[in-house]
Amino acid sequence: MTEDNLKVTELEKKLKKRDDELEKLRNENDSLKRSNLDLIEEIFQFKGLVYSSTSLITFLKGPDYIIEFANEPIKEVWGKGYDVEGKPLLEVLPEIREQGIKEYLDQVYYQGEPFHAKSLPIDHDKNGEMVRYYFDFSYMPQYNSENEIIGIGVIAQDITDRVKAELELKESEHRYREMIHSSNSLIAILRGPDMVIEIANDAIKEVWGKGDDVEGKSLFDVLPEIIDQGMPEIFRNVYETGEAFVAQESPIMHLKDGEMNLGYFDFIYQALRDSNGEIEGISIIANEVTNQALLNRQIKKSEREFRELVNFMPHKISLANAEGTPIYTNHSWLDFTGKSFEDFLSDSYLDMVHPDEREAVENEVERCLSTGDNLDIEVRIKDKNDNYIWHLSKATPIRDEEGNITSWISSSTEIQKLKEDEKRQEDFLKLVSHELKTPVTSIKGYVQLLLALLPEDIGDTEKRLPIKPYLNRIETQVERLIRLLSEMLDLSRIEQSELELKIEKFNLNSHVNEILEDLEYSNKDVELELQQDFKTDVYADKDRIGQVIINFVTNALKYSPDSNKVQLRIYEPEKDYVAVSVKDFGIGINEKEQSQIFKRFYRISGNNDDTYEGFGIGLYLSNEIIERHNGKIFVKSEIGKGSDFTFTIPLNHQK
Ligand code: ADP
Repeated sequence: MTEDNLKVTELEKKLKKRDDELEKLRNENDSLKRSNLDLIEEIFQFKGLVYSSTSLITFLKGPDYIIEFANEPIKEVWGKGYDVEGKPLLEVLPEIREQGIKEYLDQVYYQGEPFHAKSLPIDHDKNGEMVRYYFDFSYMPQYNSENEIIGIGVIAQDITDRVKAELELKESEHRYREMIHSSNSLIAILRGPDMVIEIANDAIKEVWGKGDDVEGKSLFDVLPEIIDQGMPEIFRNVYETGEAFVAQESPIMHLKDGEMNLGYFDFIYQALRDSNGEIEGISIIANEVTNQALLNRQIKKSEREFRELVNFMPHKISLANAEGTPIYTNHSWLDFTGKSFEDFLSDSYLDMVHPDEREAVENEVERCLSTGDNLDIEVRIKDKNDNYIWHLSKATPIRDEEGNITSWISSSTEIQKLKEDEKRQEDFLKLVSHELKTPVTSIKGYVQLLLALLPEDIGDTEKRLPIKPYLNRIETQVERLIRLLSEMLDLSRIEQSELELKIEKFNLNSHVNEILEDLEYSNKDVELELQQDFKTDVYADKDRIGQVIINFVTNALKYSPDSNKVQLRIYEPEKDYVAVSVKDFGIGINEKEQSQIFKRFYRISGNNDDTYEGFGIGLYLSNEIIERHNGKIFVKSEIGKGSDFTFTIPLNHQK
């Protein structure tokens, strides 16, 4: 081979090698092209991922942390608009400077250590208002091909809502525990079928008396003494059925310092359920009511005793509400009426009252109910054999602290025997007065006859035998006797409704004048003045009206030991009425007694009986007489100054 040939071959070889190399390069170039395309595709995919991610993503470049890229979610959290790329992060978010964020970034940028944080709070300035956000995030260093750090990639999760919800939950749990612990009620929470104490507040621990360290232990290990008090069954039932158990004033013994203590509790045991509705425990809410329970027991005991007492009494006792409807009665009433308790309460009481008294009783009861006055009446009540038996019935109101009537208590006592005795006495008195009146009147007649027959001057005989004064005395005494007898007769007539009026027309003024003349005749040294402001005829019982005036005047004289002046006045108090008043200057009557003196046999105690003789009948009779004339009687008086008794009657001129 020639040298040239050799060279050519050499060159051809080289050329071939170049071709091969070229071919290889071409192939490499193709695959590079392909991988470049793959890369671009990957970048697009990656960018798409970053853009569409709900995570917050940003790339910060250089030591000034220029925002190279930020996705939409992070821009929304920042709240500084969408045009932030190319600006330094701390310029866009000046508010984070103070919050240590730059320090974290610097740490990553200069030391190349990724930084991860959980639940980091950052406040973002939203239009001047700082809003707290919470983030889980990572700061990762970004490298160039020379492995130098050129920036930081930030990827974060906004977990604000979750953290806030957790915080709220914690807060509410805290509040709830706080509430349990500071409550005065006894509260505990038990978990599981073994009733393990999860929470027990101080109040319940105090009552249990087993110290502070009870949480985590089973209730029955802590309080073995309640096992025999039926508690495990109750708890088990609540735990198994979910039905709450409620108790009031329930007695429970607790072993405290080696001693069993009895306490009373209001409590509720309630099932606790998890979010699936499964029972997972029991809550105890209780209140100690020992004092109240003991008091209630005491009250119940004394109420029982009182009922027994009331039932044991022979008196008929009943209780009515403020409106007078009976609500309770004792056995005595039921025995007497033969009614059942229910019938007694529901039947009308008026049906048991004698028809003669029914209207009066009804009126009086109504009056007392509306005024609150005590009731005090004599009434015939029908027994189980339909016999009417006399009773003294009294009722008195019971009032609350404000003075309002809450109920009425009434008591009825049988007075049948008393009434019968009274009637017998009255019959006897009537008989005696009647029988005595005739002989006494004839004694008076004979005395007056003797006085009339006695010559004016009997000379010396008078000295030896003072006949006239003695006869005068007999006459006065007999007159007193007659007055007494007629009062007694009148009394029994009134009692037996036999007092009848003999109505006639007469001139009141002349009648009063005549009476005064008679009175002056027998009471020599008295001064009786009559002022006649009104002159009239009346239709009335002349003798009875006279009797009232005589009673007023004799009382006026009798109760005026230091005065002998009595002033009478006849006047017209209102149209068609006439009034007669008798005024004295005697001892007077105090206000409390003024309403009493018209009652039968009422005499003011303290007035010396020896000084003022009498029986307390006169004013009673006067009152009856005036009432029967449809008139009124009243008194004005002041102790030590005197009294003014007045009666008024209608003129009745139509008769
Ligand atoms: P008596 O027979 O006791 O006088 P009365 O029925 O006439 O009975 O009077 C009842 C009571 O009223 C008297 O006991 C007296 O205490 C009192 N009384 C009546 N009139 C007067 C009076 N003018 N002054 C003071 N007390 C009087």
